Amino acid sequence: MPKEALLIMDMLNDFVLPGAPLEVPETRRAIPAIKREIQRARREGNPVIYVCDAHAAEDKEFSRFGWPAHAVKGTAGGRVVDELKPGPGDIIVEKTSYAGFYQTRLDDILRDLGVDSLRLTGTVTHICILFTAYDAVLRDYTVTVVGDGVAGIDKEDHDAALRIMKNVLGAKMV
Ligand code: ZN
Repeated sequence: MPKEALLIMDMLNDFVLPGAPLEVPETRRAIPAIKREIQRARREGNPVIYVCDAHAAEDKEFSRFGWPAHAVKGTAGGRVVDELKPGPGDIIVEKTSYAGFYQTRLDDILRDLGVDSLRLTGTVTHICILFTAYDAVLRDYTVTVVGDGVAGIDKEDHDAALRIMKNVLGAKMV
């Protein structure tokens, strides 16, 4: 039976809390929508999967792309925000790049669960959400983007990413 998984990307203290190293203020606006999606997934018996940055202290992502250090594995900054704390049975997948599938267990986990479609929430819309959506489509997953559950850094990039996912990747927008 076709099954959908809810993906919650990078809703970590280092992206969400005011003053955090990679603060994306819009993430705080997205929290109620993501809570709603978690409730929906639980009601429908769908898996809830947190896809989270877990960087080495001197990860090459920081110097290569000019990001401040963030979400270092094992630090409080790398933990999912309290409001969206994973429940028992939820799955956490650690990643070290923008793409949720790259060198992670995500694809194996989804296939083991019989998942064939993904519902994307979290941050950042034009970075991790976009690059994960592309990888998902390449792997034949149906992709749905939850409009009020994704958060961008600025509106222009956010809107562009939504357009690209809809028009180029064929993602459904809800
Ligand atoms: Zn990162």
